Amino acid sequence: MKKNWRVCLSSMFAIFLVVSATGCNAQPATSKSTITSSSPTGSAAHAVVQKNPHWSYEGEEGPEHWGELEKDFAACGNGHEQSPVNIEHTRMEASQTQQPIQVHYTNTKVSILNNGHTIQINAASPGNTIVLDGTKFTLKQFHFHHPSEHQIDGKNADMELHFVHQGDNGSTAVLGVLIQGGKENKAFSRIWSKLPKDVSQEEALEGELNLATLLPKDLHSIRYNGSLTTPPCTEHVNWTVLEQPIEMSADQISQFATLFPDNHRPVQQLGARELTADK
Ligand SMILES: [Zn+2]
Repeated sequence: MKKNWRVCLSSMFAIFLVVSATGCNAQPATSKSTITSSSPTGSAAHAVVQKNPHWSYEGEEGPEHWGELEKDFAACGNGHEQSPVNIEHTRMEASQTQQPIQVHYTNTKVSILNNGHTIQINAASPGNTIVLDGTKFTLKQFHFHHPSEHQIDGKNADMELHFVHQGDNGSTAVLGVLIQGGKENKAFSRIWSKLPKDVSQEEALEGELNLATLLPKDLHSIRYNGSLTTPPCTEHVNWTVLEQPIEMSADQISQFATLFPDNHRPVQQLGARELTADK
């Protein structure tokens, strides 16, 4: 009888372990992987597919603890140039040299992925680029946060869109666009009609999407040096946040919020960093 109890207890413990192991990403233990790339735009870096995401937006694996969760995530806790930040108008400096961002986005075949942390749109074509003061960066993917990660004068917007780019030398540039509640945004309706509900579910969008239609008309921006806003919080990211937000209807925002009630990292100390506005 005693022996039976021991067997029973140890199988219960084994079941508990399996549940714990799968609990963090709602995926079967068999599909577990330990891929944790530290490449800035590589998989797993900036809200990209991560098979075993040992982090979340709340509780013991929430943003306050990211730096302690993995050795590779140390910058999340001890970095000095972290993102997002509060963009205070009083801290902005008009640059004498900073040219407005040049965006060359075009018709692109895309797929829509639920990576467990956000909805990420992968752009298959290398033909979408931005130019920041003469340096070209190629779009890899874009994704969403709810509510916004950056603040303007201490206030969050309803959502934020991040276009993640990589330069020829491997450097990362992210273009952030704030999203305010307002009119329905038809440019997003095809994506929104296919939002994948399950983690790791990926849907191909039929035809092509003109990515230029996703941006506001005015491309004036604020720039600063920051980091990825998800583990491993890698620094030396060129941040460009557009001053003009885009709009989405309350319905569109709540469709996203149903899947991701809160997937934003709180603002980090700006410290001595400069926020520069276009000249
Ligand atoms: Zn992001």
